Amino acid sequence: MTWSRVAAAAVSKGASFQRFRVERLEPLSGGHIRLTCRELVVDARAVVLAAGAWSRSLARQAGENVPLDTERGYHIEFAMEACPIKRPVSPVDLGFYVTPMEGRLRVAGTVELGGLSAPPNADRIAVLERGVRKLFPKLGPARTQWLGFRPSLPDSLPVIGRGRRQPNIIFAFGHGHLGMTLAGVTSRIVASIIDNRDDGLNLSAFRPDRFG
Ligand SMILES: Cc1cc2nc3c(=O)[nH]c(=O)nc-3n(C[C@H](O)[C@H](O)[C@H](O)COP(=O)(O)OP(=O)(O)OC[C@H]3O[C@@H](n4cnc5c(N)ncnc54)[C@H](O)[C@@H]3O)c2cc1C
Repeated sequence: MTWSRVAAAAVSKGASFQRFRVERLEPLSGGHIRLTCRELVVDARAVVLAAGAWSRSLARQAGENVPLDTERGYHIEFAMEACPIKRPVSPVDLGFYVTPMEGRLRVAGTVELGGLSAPPNADRIAVLERGVRKLFPKLGPARTQWLGFRPSLPDSLPVIGRGRRQPNIIFAFGHGHLGMTLAGVTSRIVASIIDNRDDGLNLSAFRPDRFG
């Protein structure tokens, strides 16, 4: 399902979307949270902090020191009418995944601890490209290449739950290599937390304050 279809499904159930960059997150007296963006200020009753690899500084403003880092990974794509494979595969000795997409073939993988601001490393793209050309020697030129940020914690578990100091801030980030796979489960848990519903799940391993 594409982003626009997910968004359309949410809007049909009453959601509305506005996209702004939050520059400051500030707890107010009375439990409200003030979000300051360049274009507007919002005072919210509850905030879900789900800014992926960029969540660390916002978490700090919410009073939690979460040792979030990013495992950078690289993608390269080739235009292709008919993909030579019908499902994602991993040549494990080469250390990446090859996925058939609509009209293109995607090659993705590698792990690089390089932070959020360092420029992409061309050598890593070259490793992917050399590897995939071994599998499919007739590939044309690469069409796109990009760097992605996996939001990761030292214990490889996400951070999900209410803030200890600011219970109206619900943390939901740090899913590392599995953020897309786990998005549905995490969002259901977040909804139950906001509704104060007890779904009988033990979430203690994911506590935002588990790192002290
Ligand atoms: C090469 C590679 C391959 C991967 N393959 C898979 C896979 O096969 N399966 C899988 O499940 N996962 C995979 N992942 C991991 C997955 O992409 C991540 O775990 C997932 O994207 C994390 O989702 P997220 O919503 O937490 O963060 P993101 O998807 O990064 O979303 C965070 C959002 O927050 C926004 N944001 C940041 N700061 C602010 C701010 N201050 N104010 C407002 N908005 C802000 C960003 O713009 C962004 O839209 C892969 C990652 C990489 C790099």
